[in-house]
Amino acid sequence: MGRMDASVLLNPVTEPQPQPIQAAPSTNGSAQTERAIFLDRDGVINALRPGHVTGWKAFQFLPGALEAIRQLSLLNWPIIVATNQSAIGRGLLSADGLEEIHGRMLAGVEQAGGRIDLIVHCPHMPEDECTCRKPEPGLFHDAAERLNVTLTESYFVGDTLSDLGAAQQLGMTFVLVRTGLGSMSLEEQPLLARQADWLADSIADASQWILEREDAVVDTRPERQAA
Ligand SMILES: [Zn+2]
Repeated sequence: MGRMDASVLLNPVTEPQPQPIQAAPSTNGSAQTERAIFLDRDGVINALRPGHVTGWKAFQFLPGALEAIRQLSLLNWPIIVATNQSAIGRGLLSADGLEEIHGRMLAGVEQAGGRIDLIVHCPHMPEDECTCRKPEPGLFHDAAERLNVTLTESYFVGDTLSDLGAAQQLGMTFVLVRTGLGSMSLEEQPLLARQADWLADSIADASQWILEREDAVVDTRPERQAA
């Protein structure tokens, strides 16, 4: 299982279960589905601050986030951001405004050598009772359909109970990060530690865990020997 440092030992969530991960190629002829990495945005990629992110100025990559996404990109799986953005429903942010923020986020990720293949967002307010605001599963179904993803074989990295709820409903492997609302969520709901498949200090830790769990990836890590 790889190295266990102090932060990891604090979180003996569940043992990674043996999974038929890169086992058999899918059945002959049928369209092959993809495994994917889903990431929450605020609190996982973006430093969470009070209030909504209503402009690029309020967006700040968390330390290590860009490098983590770059490394996850090496898996050659779709990387999908799934985010609740009620700022739109509340009239604090326009669809164009959100698009601009995401355009800049993507540019930052690409500049760092990574990629994000799709961003899905829920624009609604909680009281709208839509089917896409996490923990509702709508965003994930949407992304899965568009990119032909098998959710039960995919990962989701998030920082809240809502994220966990969505992952559980969909049978995804869930990594809870302590950044964003993660630490607070854990204090309020200690059971979270057992419900998540893994607790990570940050997206960097989460990425490391996912990569180690997917042995195949070891080969595709950056060539350390060079330099
Ligand atoms: Zn919605």
